[in-house]
Amino acid sequence: MPSITFLGTGSGFPEADRFFASSLLLLEGKHLLIDAGEPCVHSLRDRGTLIRDLDAVLITHGHVDHIGGLPALLQGAMLLERKKPLKIALPGEMIAPIRAWIHTLYLTEEGLGFPVEWIAWKDKETLILEDGSISVTPFSNRHLEQCYRTLLAADSALPCNSYSLEIIAGNFRAIFSGDLASAGDLAELVSTPANVVVSELSHVSMKELAAVLGEADLNALCLIHLSEDIADNREQLRGKMEELLPRINDVFVPEDGEILDF
Ligand SMILES: [Zn+2]
Repeated sequence: MPSITFLGTGSGFPEADRFFASSLLLLEGKHLLIDAGEPCVHSLRDRGTLIRDLDAVLITHGHVDHIGGLPALLQGAMLLERKKPLKIALPGEMIAPIRAWIHTLYLTEEGLGFPVEWIAWKDKETLILEDGSISVTPFSNRHLEQCYRTLLAADSALPCNSYSLEIIAGNFRAIFSGDLASAGDLAELVSTPANVVVSELSHVSMKELAAVLGEADLNALCLIHLSEDIADNREQLRGKMEELLPRINDVFVPEDGEILDF
């Protein structure tokens, strides 16, 4: 049975009661960590043997609230004597700098004790996990373009991804928004049916999101990565989205640690 565990539902602002972005998706017995915001290693340790069992880490983009917990996760896996190979998929431009960062922290890949396979996302190029049961397709969006294009050289890459994750032989599809430039970044993803959309709500308004999801064939919507001003009133937020999206059966605004089963 698929499930999503919301390890961190906060935005980039440090908050006492919500961690940085990290969600654990269980599909066909595979554990996929979507983003590795701090303190994901503690959240995984708190849930049994996940640090050893995790199959893949899928990093949407390079903002620190989405990747800052990765070195500690690798160190934790080393200390817990993980042997299983670990896939880490992320924007290709980040692979060399991240490997250098890990090296700077005295974590050599040879010394980890388990193989790491670094995978560069390519827009709309599907990654099939090794037993062929799950596919993950990244859809690049303009979140980082919008943040930095005026500050950086015209040829600098500014990759950020949303995902479509599917059980290949089954009937389950989940969409994760990553961070967005606008709700329109999700339009192509929601043009085919999905069981659930997990969307951020820091860089888009409720109305903009509802306008894009209004005609979509979706069963559930989860709202995470909430800006501080709206996070304090989850019930009001949920009610408002249910009003705006009457065709969606369930709207969830999870707290850190909540699990959604399908
Ligand atoms: Zn973020």
